[in-house]
Amino acid sequence: MTASPTDDSTTAGSTSPAPPMIVMKNVQKHFGDLHVLRDIDLEVPAGQVVVVLGPSGSGKSTLCRTINRLEPVDSGVIEVEGRALPDEGRDLARLRADVGMVFQSFNLFAHKTILENVTLAPMKVRKKSKADANARALELLDRVGIASQKDKYPAQLSGGQQQRVAIARSLAMDPKIMLFDEPTSALDPEMVNEVLDVMVSLAKEGMTMLVVTHEMGFARKAADRVIFMADGAIVEDSDPESFFSQPESERARDFLGKIL
Ligand code: ADP
Ligand code: MG
Repeated sequence: MTASPTDDSTTAGSTSPAPPMIVMKNVQKHFGDLHVLRDIDLEVPAGQVVVVLGPSGSGKSTLCRTINRLEPVDSGVIEVEGRALPDEGRDLARLRADVGMVFQSFNLFAHKTILENVTLAPMKVRKKSKADANARALELLDRVGIASQKDKYPAQLSGGQQQRVAIARSLAMDPKIMLFDEPTSALDPEMVNEVLDVMVSLAKEGMTMLVVTHEMGFARKAADRVIFMADGAIVEDSDPESFFSQPESERARDFLGKIL
């Protein structure tokens, strides 16, 4: 071997390497006396798909919500693409635009058409013209298989269709990260796959994703990494294959025994 550099960061040449998409360091969060996030350390590189597992109440939703600042933290550092999370103001709006989030409940605007649901934020926040916003929305609706429904209202669509619209609506902001919090939990079983298929294709295209889901099929197909939480802490952090075949902790074995 020739002389090896002592510091990996010097090997990439003169340009510094891209920062991780998400960084959390020593993050603590309480709700009153309840310690919901315990010293969370997490780094997610660009393009990685992380599935977050854990029993109900373990802090999975809170973890997601802190990343786009829907929930403030008590202490610690959260950075998105190398920038610390802003507290308020215009920077916060920009951050929220960069970090898309899809919830269990679809939260579409009931009195707006499907197309309007997707074009609203890009026009308001990204200042896109109506023509540009419409063109992009139709492209995204087509991609999630809903283009023919564009003039309908949310209540006229099935749950699976509404959730696909919610995904298209998030994507219309050109987010750098997509957070999914149990996106298929409220759906009838026959509609789960149509939503997961959209998420799998997004994962394959290189989107950075943090996905809270109990859908093991998705985890096996699309996850690069599985994080298992219990009582507000990250208890395991490994690749899906090792996690499912040889979980290290009693908590994870117990959890897997219940859901598999
Ligand atoms: P999970 O998504 O894993 O089920 P959550 O992050 O929703 O867990 O909740 C973690 C814990 O924090 C739970 O005990 C929950 O009851 C509590 N919690 C969540 N949100 C709030 C809130 N806004 N106020 C008080 N307690 C909360
Ligand atoms: Mg939750």
